[in-house]
Amino acid sequence: MICITCMRPVESLYTVYSNDHIQLTDCPFCKETVDKYVEIDNALLFIDLLLLKSGAYRHLVFNSLELHLSKYPRAKALNNCQSLREYMQALIFNIKNWFCKYDRLNRLWLLLISFEIYLTWVTEESKYIYYLNRHDNDGKLIVLSKNLPESFQWNSSIMRNTITSKVFTWSPPVQYLYFASYCILDICLFHTFIRHFILKKLHWGRDSVYSKDIISYTILLSYGAKIFPILMLIWPYDTLISMSIIKWVANFYIIESLKIVTKLSYWNIIKIFVLVSLLRYCSVKPILIFFVAKFNFPKIKNLICQEFMLLLQKSGTYLLL
Ligand SMILES: [Zn+2]
Repeated sequence: MICITCMRPVESLYTVYSNDHIQLTDCPFCKETVDKYVEIDNALLFIDLLLLKSGAYRHLVFNSLELHLSKYPRAKALNNCQSLREYMQALIFNIKNWFCKYDRLNRLWLLLISFEIYLTWVTEESKYIYYLNRHDNDGKLIVLSKNLPESFQWNSSIMRNTITSKVFTWSPPVQYLYFASYCILDICLFHTFIRHFILKKLHWGRDSVYSKDIISYTILLSYGAKIFPILMLIWPYDTLISMSIIKWVANFYIIESLKIVTKLSYWNIIKIFVLVSLLRYCSVKPILIFFVAKFNFPKIKNLICQEFMLLLQKSGTYLLL
């Protein structure tokens, strides 16, 4: 357990007296209350999380998480098992223990991924329709593109040969399966890479047994900001521009919350974030292309070329705008 102000380790968060009176502990180092969120209502805690208050994040990912996880026994070591029976018993115990221990977190991940799948589906469909119906003489592009090479002019026929165009010819359940695989793969890679770089490369949290869980929970809490656009689907603000603004806000939430929890420099966190985003971008779609093209290499090559052409077209447009 830590003090949410100075982040130094403390013995306890509060003392319970015989008449059930609770006294919050004061930090011996900074003299502030160790964790005022012990007494604060969940609704207020949620608002403070939205406002990126450092105390709210530290209360949840350090103190609250440690209190919860310490109630469960640690996983049994499988290397020390003498027989297959012993090994299987230890394995079953570990699996059961894992599901009980991370039940609340897994439910939150499931909720978040479900929303993320739906939002990705909606956004990709809007983008597909937008790019397919876009013409060379649309908006500012024509004004600026008169003196530019042809490669910078918008060519909507590229859109007809991309992986997205193939996906939208499938039945809705198969489309859902595709977007579910996309989102699960994307979140898994993001989560694994961020945790690997912070723990293994920057050597953060070597003194804590819960360092892996702390980073995972921080990503989960800040990733929640990505589902804000679900509210925008209710009101008529679901334009591509407003959705991309929200995506950038969500990225800011992830960077800021990692900074609050790890106390690493912004430079290190932004470096990791950019690297991980590039890794995701270069791995998620190519992996799915392999499956969509059914491991047919000429088809894979063609789809990757079309995706690259689309990327060039998009970047050309963004530069012009
Ligand atoms: Zn303190």
